[in-house]
Amino acid sequence: MMFTPAELLEINTLLTPENKIVILTHYNPDGDAIGSSLGLKHYLKAKGIFAEVIVPNDFPKFLKWMPEAKKALIAEYKRKVASDLIHEADVIFCLDFNSPSRIGLLGDWLTNAKGKKILIDHHQQPEKFDFVYSDTVIPATCQMIYHLIEAMDDEKLVNKDIAECLYTGIMTDTGGFRFRSTSATTHRIIANLIEKGADPAIITSSTWDTNTVSRLHLLALILGRIEVVKDGTVAVLYLTREELKEYGFQKGDTEGFVNYGLSILGVKMAAFFMEDLYEDFIKISFRSKDDMDVNQFSRKYFSGGGHINAAGGKSNESLQDTIETFKKRIEGEENL
Ligand code: 5GP
Ligand code: MN
Repeated sequence: MMFTPAELLEINTLLTPENKIVILTHYNPDGDAIGSSLGLKHYLKAKGIFAEVIVPNDFPKFLKWMPEAKKALIAEYKRKVASDLIHEADVIFCLDFNSPSRIGLLGDWLTNAKGKKILIDHHQQPEKFDFVYSDTVIPATCQMIYHLIEAMDDEKLVNKDIAECLYTGIMTDTGGFRFRSTSATTHRIIANLIEKGADPAIITSSTWDTNTVSRLHLLALILGRIEVVKDGTVAVLYLTREELKEYGFQKGDTEGFVNYGLSILGVKMAAFFMEDLYEDFIKISFRSKDDMDVNQFSRKYFSGGGHINAAGGKSNESLQDTIETFKKRIEGEENL
């Protein structure tokens, strides 16, 4: 639910040029994380207020075209500066995550920080923050930033920079306006953003027409061995560390691969398993259709979470054992 009118008033009094404001978002930032953080930063700027965007770790090149993306402070490279900024902040916006455990090394700093913590997020089961605007029906945190701007009666302040950032996050989190929480309201907001200067062709091409030949080869490799189990309802994809090295893996290269599994006729759930490049664990991406709840599934079996139809998780077993464990776990699933 949107902040109450009383909360909005209180938030408004905190948003002053004198107050130190930081904006944090989740580990491995995606289009919605970066779009909402920068969109909010540009909105505050339009009100004459400076805010610093801090991300836990680096993000893919295909998101760096967004206005001021390159000014985001990457905490894994500048720990001391990031930690000082968070501890000194009067206001800490927490965007597109629901728990300090989702922001890597920023988690402890956030937990110990004294500033007012304002959560704006669409993931399920949010933890406690000073102000909470959580809505799991909204497809992107970027859409929630737009609703906040509306609630503040500031739509007139929306400029091209804000519009481009918010458009990008809505586009990426809805898979190009396709996933089921994409609503008429989403499209109305998108129409407004286009009127304010977001160009759909330029944004789509800057974000998605960014393949490298090595990324396409990696995709060809995993598509060539895609496996469908449980009577054709579950697709399994994987990549090993050796393969990542061989193909010169760059951050973001595997973005969207799991969706190919879900595009198979009859498939209701897709799982993509990938060995981490440096550490000994398996990163898992789950996607699903209809009522197959991968958020619950991942929480229960793979220390993860996310949304009903898109979630992530991890495993400390070997790649092969993780896939075997996964196949056993889905046997008990009735929604498949
Ligand atoms: P992806 O598969 O693209 O990494 O993540 C899909 C969704 O699940 C995103 O909304 C992401 O924030 C969330 N997610 C990914 N990994 C984790 C995890 O380990 N724990 C939790 N709670 N959420 C995750
Ligand atoms: Mn999101």
